[in-house]
Amino acid sequence: MAKRPHVSNWARNQRFRPIEIARPSSEDELGATIAAAAATNQRVRVMGAGHSFTAAAATDDTHVTIHDLDQIHHLDSESGSVTVGAGITIRALNRVLDSHGLALANMGDIDKQSLAGAISTSTHGTGLAFTGFGGQVTGLRLVDPLGESRDIDAHNHSEIFANARVSLGALGVISRVTLQTVPSFRLHAIEQSEPLEDVLTSWQERVDTVDHFEFFMLPGSQNAMTKTNHRTDEPRAPLSRVGYVRDKILLENIGFDVLCRLVRRWPGLVSKVSKVIDASGGHREYTDRSFDVFTTPRMVKFYETEWSLPLDAIPDAVREVNAMARSLAAPIIFPIEVRATAGDDVPLSTAHGRESGYIAAHVYQGTSHDEYFANIASIARAHGGRPHWGKLHNETAESLAALYPDWHRFQAARSVADPEGRFSNAYLDRVLGSLSL
Ligand SMILES: Cc1cc2nc3c(=O)[nH]c(=O)nc-3n(C[C@H](O)[C@H](O)[C@H](O)COP(=O)(O)OP(=O)(O)OC[C@H]3O[C@@H](n4cnc5c(N)ncnc54)[C@H](O)[C@@H]3O)c2cc1C
Repeated sequence: MAKRPHVSNWARNQRFRPIEIARPSSEDELGATIAAAAATNQRVRVMGAGHSFTAAAATDDTHVTIHDLDQIHHLDSESGSVTVGAGITIRALNRVLDSHGLALANMGDIDKQSLAGAISTSTHGTGLAFTGFGGQVTGLRLVDPLGESRDIDAHNHSEIFANARVSLGALGVISRVTLQTVPSFRLHAIEQSEPLEDVLTSWQERVDTVDHFEFFMLPGSQNAMTKTNHRTDEPRAPLSRVGYVRDKILLENIGFDVLCRLVRRWPGLVSKVSKVIDASGGHREYTDRSFDVFTTPRMVKFYETEWSLPLDAIPDAVREVNAMARSLAAPIIFPIEVRATAGDDVPLSTAHGRESGYIAAHVYQGTSHDEYFANIASIARAHGGRPHWGKLHNETAESLAALYPDWHRFQAARSVADPEGRFSNAYLDRVLGSLSL
């Protein structure tokens, strides 16, 4: 018998061996794949681009990828309403939208994810007037456990729709997405090193007045690298090609990777290397298309945890994280990222019902993160933090239920949409509760 191939995620910290691997080329084929899985009593998991660090997309049963469902079904430049195949990558979507004078209102810091995957884990960017992906969705086509499709929105199957905007795929397979987009825009970006304490004391003012504010800091450092991005009508004035390659590729990726390897091999070098990274901040200013500014190349592999906190908890939580990082036996040289978004009404959105600040911590691939991430989790939990669904954490359905006021509403929708847990896996059993097949 042929050996079953391994499938792994981007970070290579999740590996699994599905019995079936399906790559449907049409929505009909996708429906047939799910119907076949139901007939043989297998569970089904769709993987988007595999950019989740958790086992959200893992399965040993039927593994489905919908990369080929990436068509543009409808695009109205006037209203900005756009319907696309759910397997499209954010990168491809950005380019199509731009060629029609449209853009995503907001996005995260990479564009490699599939649209369905980004929606399903509550993926977000930064900007207090903007929600994550779930808040931009106005309609979905969902395939049910028997392989049947239906279109859902605020008027049709509205309760399933309200919940499916962040669902980890627990309510069905998304094959099409309708999004509300905005006219294309440019961003004026200022990236500079500033004293961390200045940034924390002015946190509220900055997120109130800057369209898209975020900062990075080395764990334990006194400095922050701020990104102050304003929407602008100014013409494009991008980073020069040389500047882009030097800063974004050589310094932030290739050089950084070398430093991470050095510290992984010789941990004693950590304080010297931290000083080098801290001092490399500088100042950059440029204006470019929204999606070129939002995204940066991420060539260095890492593991990540991220927590969503009430917005005003961020300054104290960051100070606590920083103090904790200084006390670690093995200090970390991978930056922490801090962002903010509007609240929304999506039941499992990490920004549900509150303006949110986010603290994301990373370690270099192959580095132990148990103590560091557990400490971050304790600090975040003490501030009412909710973990990102696609990033590493140890929470369970029991602990998560207390963090989401509409938890039972989601569970009710799940028991209607997938009563037997056809679309579940071990991770969903843990974080959403077990449904026996
Ligand atoms: C380098 C890097 C940078 C990142 N930056 C950010 C960021 O800026 N902001 C942020 O919030 N997150 C960020 N993330 C996390 C990432 O956005 C999420 O984990 C996202 O879910 C990944 O999308 P994906 O297409 O890879 O989905 P996958 O990881 O493949 O899947 C995620 C979940 O969606 C489900 N799913 C996928 N497709 C479907 C479908 N068609 N129907 C139903 N369910 C489906 C899967 O089963 C799984 O449960 C980053 C991750 C990496 C590796």
